[in-house]
Amino acid sequence: MSEDTIFGKIIRREIPADIVYEDDLCLAFKDVNPQAPVHVLVIPKKPITKLADAESDDHALMGHLLLTVKRVAEQLELTNGYRVVINTGEDGGQTVYHLHLHILGGRAMGWPPG
Ligand code: AMP
Repeated sequence: MSEDTIFGKIIRREIPADIVYEDDLCLAFKDVNPQAPVHVLVIPKKPITKLADAESDDHALMGHLLLTVKRVAEQLELTNGYRVVINTGEDGGQTVYHLHLHILGGRAMGWPPG
């Protein structure tokens, strides 16, 4: 389990966020510093620190997060495609240590990433 983070505060509604989807297991909200016309974060309510710390018990939750990405992308009408990013640890560029999946869309993405 992680230390509390800003995403924990969003889950508990202690700070505001522009929430686009919620269920028992996860929450999706707009990134405060968008890197594309559509930039949404999908997070588990369980405070898993990072992908590298997910455990076999989290198997179903991890699948649920990916299917939630698909659901939210449909809801946001990203019919031309989108990118899903999980930054993990220092070299991965992770800044908030509560697992999150970025959904980036609304423009063509470049490759390779920086
Ligand atoms: P990462 O660098 O992968 O850890 O991504 C963290 C993301 O969280 C960044 O894209 C930030 O812009 C975003 N972020 C940080 N604080 C907030 C917040 N209060 N509400 C929404 N997004 C946030």
